[in-house]
Amino acid sequence: MTLHCENIPLARLADEFGTPLYVYSQSALTEAFQAYTDAFSALQPLICYAVKANGNLSILKHFASLGSGFDIVSGGELARVLAAGGDAGKTIFSGVGKSEAEIEFALNAGVLCFNVESLPELDRIQAVAERLGKTAPISLRINPDVDAKTHPYISTGLKSNKFGIAYADALEAYRHAARLGRLKIVGIDCHIGSQLTDLSPLVEACERTLLLVDKLAAEGITLEHIDLGGGVGIVYDNEDVPDLKAYAQAVAKLMAGRPLKLMLEPGRSLVGNAGTLLTRVEFVKQGEEKNFVIVDAAMNDLMRPALYEAYHRIEVVEPGNTAPFTADIVGPICETGDFLGQNRTLACTAGDLLAIRSAGAYGSSMASNYNTRNRAAEVLVNGAEAKLIRRRETIEQQLANEQACL
Ligand SMILES: *Cc1c(COP(=O)(O)O)cnc(C)c1O
Repeated sequence: MTLHCENIPLARLADEFGTPLYVYSQSALTEAFQAYTDAFSALQPLICYAVKANGNLSILKHFASLGSGFDIVSGGELARVLAAGGDAGKTIFSGVGKSEAEIEFALNAGVLCFNVESLPELDRIQAVAERLGKTAPISLRINPDVDAKTHPYISTGLKSNKFGIAYADALEAYRHAARLGRLKIVGIDCHIGSQLTDLSPLVEACERTLLLVDKLAAEGITLEHIDLGGGVGIVYDNEDVPDLKAYAQAVAKLMAGRPLKLMLEPGRSLVGNAGTLLTRVEFVKQGEEKNFVIVDAAMNDLMRPALYEAYHRIEVVEPGNTAPFTADIVGPICETGDFLGQNRTLACTAGDLLAIRSAGAYGSSMASNYNTRNRAAEVLVNGAEAKLIRRRETIEQQLANEQACL
């Protein structure tokens, strides 16, 4: 009855490592990765795990050992990939605002490709490459203008978004890139949003992107790869999510006859369901209109509910004999938005442990020190073995860069 991660009771992990604690299942990470390689086996894609979903070095190292490449959005993430033993030659550099220093770092490291999002960025990469005497492999991120039908904050493929180059401007942007002598045009990419629950926008984006591939070929610009980004949704509650096999079949059908290498950039769907945030109940507070279960995890540990009103399943780790009641599960932070779940019916009491599910993606990677809270520890479980993969932060570490000058 008591909840486990693989073969280890969650309660034992809480005793050993304290709470709040992120717990990840290594076999769940492996299975999620293999679901992609199995589904897409006919196309032999390069899967580039999106580091921003969860950049813990052990998680990166695990994916690297499975053959994964990486999708990064900052120089910091490139440093993580390299520190984890990842291959720069399998790393794609995405993002709308790459600095000169980041471009230089990536060029020197030898990244597979820059996913470029604007003309000024093309010019900047050209200039840095010129200065270093290098050639920069580039792909253009095209905005296919399809509605991903997801939360507006995580929808990226519409005309109104800051991401990518407008579909109508794509050919001209490629012509511009082709005139820049230090750039080598290798691909095209798109990424239309995150937590997509519908397959059709993903397929439509692929179709529209391939149309551009053909138009470019007709102009003598031959691409080596197409990168369809990430975005496949996961089950947090009871959503339908895209079937990877159906996705792969649709893509294979569209790509048939084109000698293009396929790349994918999944983040959430590789780590989201592999992670749980363990937290302990501090108090149960009966309010006038609402009850509150106040726990030791908060929005600084898991920002998604506060940021997008995201839903995470919450379960009692060791169910006892308490009667169930309905409450908001909230943290100690001084913000009304500091909730982890609202209107949940749970049977718990002070001192009990709660498991906040599907917290592996955009959980620890979005954590902050708000309210001067130390960021949580992280543990990776493999069978009956648990490894501490991130120590709990200390107050000394938080204060280390500050000075009381006056
Ligand atoms: C965030 C992001 C991803 C990963 O998205 P998921 O929804 O986590 O799969 C992939 N590519 C780019 C460019 C991104 O910004």
